[in-house]
Amino acid sequence: MISESDSEDEIELSPETEELLNTTENGVDPAEFGKRHWPYAFNYITHYPVENATNDDQLAALEFLERFMSELPCADCGEDMQLYLQRHHPKLQNRCSFFKWLWKFRNCVNRKLGQKELSLDEAIRVHCSPSNSNLKSDLSISPITWLLIGVLIGSTLYAVYCASQEKAKKNKPLTE
Ligand SMILES: Cc1cc2nc3c(=O)[nH]c(=O)nc-3n(C[C@H](O)[C@H](O)[C@H](O)COP(=O)(O)OP(=O)(O)OC[C@H]3O[C@@H](n4cnc5c(N)ncnc54)[C@H](O)[C@@H]3O)c2cc1C
Repeated sequence: MISESDSEDEIELSPETEELLNTTENGVDPAEFGKRHWPYAFNYITHYPVENATNDDQLAALEFLERFMSELPCADCGEDMQLYLQRHHPKLQNRCSFFKWLWKFRNCVNRKLGQKELSLDEAIRVHCSPSNSNLKSDLSISPITWLLIGVLIGSTLYAVYCASQEKAKKNKPLTE
């Protein structure tokens, strides 16, 4: 159960941290937030119905996009998205149509920024295959690393076993 702590008003901030908190919006770098925001939106779509999204699903998706747009911490980015939404109404009938819409929008932003555009196949591989997922933790261990760990443990155990056999031979009493 969550225990109640002191009132927030009683917790004092140092002038430096208060300044940092109050000016943090100015320091947001689109390059940094983009790395989190795009995967966040693509991840939403990977939970969207594969077929026949209901009216409720479509309304929820529109609300998600509105919220996503309002949370963009850069004015230009929000305006671009607003404009794109007005010109290209999102296709929300199913997961594929929704994915294509976001992929196209992302490519539009890439074009504006002079960044590489992705083919639809590449985009699906990036955002939908578990091994390439942007959302995977940086700490995840690849199969090759697991294999190397296994080989290392196996060879250590084998060396210990050989050493103990050797010792046992030496300690064995002589028999006639
Ligand atoms: C709505 C929105 C508007 C933005 N507007 C601006 C802006 O006006 N100015 C600005 O400086 N930054 C803007 N950004 C941030 C910008 O889009 C990038 O995220 C940022 O520049 C960092 O790019 P990156 O390639 O280094 O890394 P990331 O953003 O992490 O992009 C690299 C990843 O995206 C994947 N990817 C690339 N294209 C696609 C695609 N079409 N579909 C699916 N996956 C793709 C790549 O394969 C790779 O995995 C915006 C971000 C958002 C969410």
